[in-house]
Amino acid sequence: MILSISNLSKTYPNGVQALKNVALSIPTGMFGLLGPNGAGKSTLMRTIATLQEPDAGSIFLDSLDVVKQKDEVRKILGYLPQEFGVYPKVSAEMMLDHLAVLKGITNAKQRKELVDALLHQTNLDDVRKKNLGTFSGGMKQRFGIAQALLGNPKLIIVDEPTAGLDPAERNRFHNLLSAIGENIVVILSTHIVDDVSDLCSHMAIISEGEVLLTGEPLKVIHDLQGKIWKKTIDKRELADCQSRFKVISTRLFAGKTVIHVFSETQPDGTFEAVEAGLDDVYFSTLAKA
Ligand code: ADP
Repeated sequence: MILSISNLSKTYPNGVQALKNVALSIPTGMFGLLGPNGAGKSTLMRTIATLQEPDAGSIFLDSLDVVKQKDEVRKILGYLPQEFGVYPKVSAEMMLDHLAVLKGITNAKQRKELVDALLHQTNLDDVRKKNLGTFSGGMKQRFGIAQALLGNPKLIIVDEPTAGLDPAERNRFHNLLSAIGENIVVILSTHIVDDVSDLCSHMAIISEGEVLLTGEPLKVIHDLQGKIWKKTIDKRELADCQSRFKVISTRLFAGKTVIHVFSETQPDGTFEAVEAGLDDVYFSTLAKA
């Protein structure tokens, strides 16, 4: 199974061009769509999820025309949107049961088994009777995955699922996502590099509506080895460094400013070679654009 996106473009009525000729080939397994806020990720996710129309271009899941055959797509789609609203006064179990009915699972016994299995899979057994309004961010997101898994989807879209989760919740959520089958297409949109490096076998970087890079995380990291250099500086030196070198990222470590520079060769004697990571791939790709 493969999701093929070709020449996809979208301009909103206010003139913002959110997608510019996007082309992506997404195989089964976990695919990371990485980009900063405003890159066009949600626009792309909503378009694949049949919730909005592109101006031009096509999306096919094998032979299924996603843009035209919306009803067919919805039968095989699981979607966790960025803003996942819940009815606060309804329990997890009741809500999931209700959503299962909407998905067309009308046999009560079958539905109960399914709801039980999903609550178990998402580690919500203990809180099944609790109202959704009392759930933490991480619990809500796990519930969001439970509802996205209803009806054995072949295509799952999760839009920025870990934003706002604390590290333990994020870790739990990662484990849950990684357990979802490798035989379906799972698209994870995120601005968090670690989400992609932890989980995804394939990825794309998108910015200002354009795909800047696609590949396998291990491969794109490998391609950057030997070209990333690190230096700890005083923050007053930053402007000078930025004018002399290709500074791709700056971060604070123990109160000091640490810069990463992209360079084919040692920039000058004061830099230390570092092993490239996916964050270096991400920041150098954005810097190039
Ligand atoms: P991301 O999910 O990567 O943050 P979005 O797809 O939400 O990006 O947004 C891409 C661009 O389109 C942004 O500039 C955003 O402000 C704009 N945008 C998104 N939705 C709308 C809309 N309904 N109307 C007008 N502009 C929008």
